[in-house]
Amino acid sequence: MVSRLRDPHYERWASQIRRTGGCRQPIHLRGKVEHWDRATGTLLHRYSTNLEPDGVLRVACKTRRASRCPSCAETYRADTYQLVRAGLVGGKGVPASVSAHPCLFVTLTAPSFGTVHTRREKNGKVQPCHARRDAGMCPHGRAMSCTARHGADESCLGEPLCPDCYDYAGSVLFNAMSPELWRRFTEALRRRVAKNAGLTQRELRDQAMISFAKVAEYQRRGVVHFHAVIRLDGPDGPTMAPPAWATADLLADAVRHAASAVTVTVPEVPGEPTRAFQWGAQLDVRQIIMDGDLTDQAVAGYIAKYATKAAECVGTLDRRINLLDDLAALPIRDHPRRLIAECLHLGVLDELADLRLVQWAHMLGFRGHFSTRSRHYSTTMGSIRDERRDFARAEEITTGRLPLFDDDTVLVIASWEYVGKGFSAGDALLVSALTGTPHPWGPDDPR
Ligand SMILES: [Zn+2]
Ligand SMILES: [Zn+2]
Ligand SMILES: [Zn+2]
Repeated sequence: MVSRLRDPHYERWASQIRRTGGCRQPIHLRGKVEHWDRATGTLLHRYSTNLEPDGVLRVACKTRRASRCPSCAETYRADTYQLVRAGLVGGKGVPASVSAHPCLFVTLTAPSFGTVHTRREKNGKVQPCHARRDAGMCPHGRAMSCTARHGADESCLGEPLCPDCYDYAGSVLFNAMSPELWRRFTEALRRRVAKNAGLTQRELRDQAMISFAKVAEYQRRGVVHFHAVIRLDGPDGPTMAPPAWATADLLADAVRHAASAVTVTVPEVPGEPTRAFQWGAQLDVRQIIMDGDLTDQAVAGYIAKYATKAAECVGTLDRRINLLDDLAALPIRDHPRRLIAECLHLGVLDELADLRLVQWAHMLGFRGHFSTRSRHYSTTMGSIRDERRDFARAEEITTGRLPLFDDDTVLVIASWEYVGKGFSAGDALLVSALTGTPHPWGPDDPR
């Protein structure tokens, strides 16, 4: 820390750090950018990291994951919020009239894979977990009843009453198949909306478009469920008013129908039967109304929050696991350990190779995107990022990530090399002081 402070390049280093916005694990790049005049062959401008502190340029890691870098995840969260909100009330190129289009907030859950400890509240009072007077014992001799009123942070929440009864294979296979189940749901939804409107699918395309913004959330038991904004527009998307038949009730009926109609099948493999997965019985469909109980801000905030989370809230690991890892030695609870073990076990079967369960074992089998939008939902993450980049243009020009001169007359030759990431312990302390972010190895470090 002292040598950094005494370094004659300290101010430049500090400005690099401020530009990364307090990124916990900035990427170190080494390289140069040259601008050449195509006609005369003269060098117009040259940037090299040789003159930067330590000979590297530090750029933000831009992760989505709050567990890895809180400040970059915060940027991602804010971008997602703007994007989802633009699809509800307009902005970022979407007209404000979009707020009059039928729009629902839908939660699609996973089915049950066995009874788990839960916390329920009724009129502000915590209810017993699973009070069953004559529940009896399971084949493994465990009581299938739990009368405890669990605290909000109790580690047993989401864990099975009997781990030996719990369908771990079903749980990870559902996670692996859920993106396909979602895709089939969106297709079934289009078909049902057409039917409700008395149209063929082709006629529907000429009259209306259905747009989505969705996010995956892990429940404590380790399965994903989806929250989605589903909106009905005119044929060109949010800029066009929907046809007169397009009501929120018609859309809600189609959502309920499509959610119950779709299945996805996993073939039989040694030791496991064929499984046909459907969405869980708990389907929540609510209309988003600007002044109602469910406002645009609440929905956008909710989706944006989950966009920066992954499976770590279930207590799994925030890194890939491989077949040589000693599972028993991993610092995690038994429930996620068994889900991971099931991924490794099923992942080596040829029949399930496409699911890539070994690669996604740390995600408990889910390999989909955490937050996705259909093409015409609103704007894109890319254009929101471009907007911010244009705002901070000077640095981007020097380092060649934005053109300095007219593209047609100037040749830009850039070469970059990854040389590392993160900070030394002393630098980390300074960064924390400079940017007001928590110290990476402080008490709130998730490690
Ligand atoms: Zn970062
Ligand atoms: Zn319980
Ligand atoms: Zn049992």
